[in-house]
Amino acid sequence: MNIVFFGTSGGVQSAEDSNVSFLILYQGNSILVDVSGSPVQSLKKVGINPLELDCVVITHEHTDHIYALPSLIHNLWLMKREKPLTIITNTSTERKAKELCNLFSLLSREALFPMKWVSIEEGKHVVEPGVEISLFPVVHSVSTSGLKISTSYSSIVYSSDTSPCEKVGLYAKGAKMLIHESSGSVGEENVLNKSGHSSARQAGEIAERAGVKTLVLCHFDFSKREYSTEQAISEAKSAFRGLIIIPDSFKSYLI
Ligand SMILES: [Zn+2]
Repeated sequence: MNIVFFGTSGGVQSAEDSNVSFLILYQGNSILVDVSGSPVQSLKKVGINPLELDCVVITHEHTDHIYALPSLIHNLWLMKREKPLTIITNTSTERKAKELCNLFSLLSREALFPMKWVSIEEGKHVVEPGVEISLFPVVHSVSTSGLKISTSYSSIVYSSDTSPCEKVGLYAKGAKMLIHESSGSVGEENVLNKSGHSSARQAGEIAERAGVKTLVLCHFDFSKREYSTEQAISEAKSAFRGLIIIPDSFKSYLI
């Protein structure tokens, strides 16, 4: 299984980087997690045919995680996609996603490719034999799903946006990689947690308790000039003994 980030920023983009979104690749299949930036351009950039994208997971309805969904569907429709597209999310996000697409009358376009909506609060969807996506609720200001993607030989867990959440640690037990949001520094933890976010140190604590090998930090707040990704690594290191990665967008990491 490989992972490629299309962006690592939180709500505010940097000059170099778009909002958090990433692609999981396994055995010739692809799953896009959250839909921001320019998804079709990003897929092409890493050599994936957008017509072959298998599945989209949307963790919650906040703008930075969902805004590019209409553009993705519009592009695929214009490209005359025929293959069905599975969209997995929770009930409330599914409602918002459909509202967003309906603003542009996208779901009633003539000859639109089949879309299979899968709504999960807590549970799993079998993508194909041996490949499962599990969604579970995390602690944020709107209904938000963390997720676990498991194949027969590897698994990763993504916290999405959340304050420190026990379920993230439970699902991450035995996983090779935990991708955790890191919205700020130790000194901001009270404010972060109240708004449904975590510090890098708190991400490290959860990774350490879960016993994962690798912690990937993302969802950086680039509107704070005084906070650097180097500081995030250093604070996460104070709580986690494994490998910490700040991903480079468009670089492929083997899980
Ligand atoms: Zn959010």
